[in-house]
Amino acid sequence: MTAVQSFDVAILGAGLAGRLSAWQLVRAGARVALIERGGPDGSGSAAHVAAAMLAPLAESAIAERRIVDLGIASVDLWRSWLQELPERVFFQEDGTLVVWHARDRAEVSLFTSRMRAVAPPELVQDRLRALDGNGVGQVEPALAGRFTQGLLLQGEGQLDNRGAMRALLACAIEHGMHCVWEAGEIDAVALPGMGIHAGVVLDCRGLGAREAWTDATDAQRAALPGLRGLRGEVVRVHAPDVKLQRPVRLLHPRYPIYIAPKPNDLYVIGATEIESEDDSPMSVRSALELLSAAHSLHPAFGEARVLELNVQRRPTRPDHLPAIRVDQPSRVVRVNGLYRHGWLIAPAVTEAACQVVRALLDGDPAAHAVPSSLRWPGMIAPVHEPASLARGGFPDAGGGLLH
Ligand SMILES: Cc1cc2nc3c(=O)[nH]c(=O)nc-3n(C[C@H](O)[C@H](O)[C@H](O)COP(=O)(O)OP(=O)(O)OC[C@H]3O[C@@H](n4cnc5c(N)ncnc54)[C@H](O)[C@@H]3O)c2cc1C
Repeated sequence: MTAVQSFDVAILGAGLAGRLSAWQLVRAGARVALIERGGPDGSGSAAHVAAAMLAPLAESAIAERRIVDLGIASVDLWRSWLQELPERVFFQEDGTLVVWHARDRAEVSLFTSRMRAVAPPELVQDRLRALDGNGVGQVEPALAGRFTQGLLLQGEGQLDNRGAMRALLACAIEHGMHCVWEAGEIDAVALPGMGIHAGVVLDCRGLGAREAWTDATDAQRAALPGLRGLRGEVVRVHAPDVKLQRPVRLLHPRYPIYIAPKPNDLYVIGATEIESEDDSPMSVRSALELLSAAHSLHPAFGEARVLELNVQRRPTRPDHLPAIRVDQPSRVVRVNGLYRHGWLIAPAVTEAACQVVRALLDGDPAAHAVPSSLRWPGMIAPVHEPASLARGGFPDAGGGLLH
């Protein structure tokens, strides 16, 4: 017979949302179990392959205002949270450089007009700087003489995703978090069979939680999945001769790319965004497009060494916005829909989810109505899940399990 271990919170999925939530809850004194289908390196997560750019203004060219606001709040959180981790994580706020080849200049007005339409005017005012050719060379000496114009989006950031995942996990383990690796495809209902009893379950399985986000009762959405994967491909290269200092975006009508320099002359070149659930290896077409675009930005990419060709699917809701669902009777909280902005917005989203978890542990009868629900209206929703998903057997009165 499996011995039963009791925890305040069981977190399903050790990707981005799972690790960030685990770290916050452990820090708040909760006894946490983190359960993951894969291993501790996180290689099965979207978080592991991402470029981890933290660019609210650049993202406003394709995203809604909600994402920009969550992003601004989250970058502030990253700045202070990363300092609290014992392990140093590469984090940069030196801006994003946007460039284009002369024949693609029509893309620029599209890009800037979308930013102006969506981002707060003061953000555009503070951050957007037009550069001439000299200015491009001053900002990025490696690109001197290569472009006659550019845009600098000041203050935009990036971090080392794999370093951050390692550091969050190590810190949470150091504070007593229990981990279960290689658990296979589990859900909340499976926990008792694994000998895990938890006051609250926090579901951070990304696309692995698809069955819990089907919205099957909503006739209008029956044809549209509640959660779908959007295929993204990125290349990791070692390019010691390139010497870029900050993320660079290349505007292009068909192959817009970004290149994010990471420590030790590593570069992440991405990313495709393909409406497909296919998670097979990268196509030759995508590899050619990404690498040709990088080579057109700087010829020294021709001598780079390809380290990884990565594919993952971004967990995406129909409205492309993040969501937190709270089933109060069975004490399950689900966070999802981080889509292409996970690294940008996860601190604010998981902070809200952790507030809900703590309210449930404290026996708050309206746990979905935490302060974050006022700050981010509509992001947190109470639900009553179907019996197939419900854990059952959890009286609503908690009693402050947090110590
Ligand atoms: C190519 C690409 C580039 C990106 N670039 C950026 C970027 O520059 N900036 C940015 O902000 N965002 C970026 N993102 C988005 C970001 O990576 C995602 O939004 C984020 O990782 C989603 O976080 P998550 O925790 O919901 O899911 P994930 O990070 O995918 O984590 C889910 C975890 O749950 C585990 N799991 C799944 N099912 C189960 C199960 N049944 N049982 C147990 N465990 C399970 C998985 O193994 C995984 O570890 C990018 C994404 C991709 C794919």
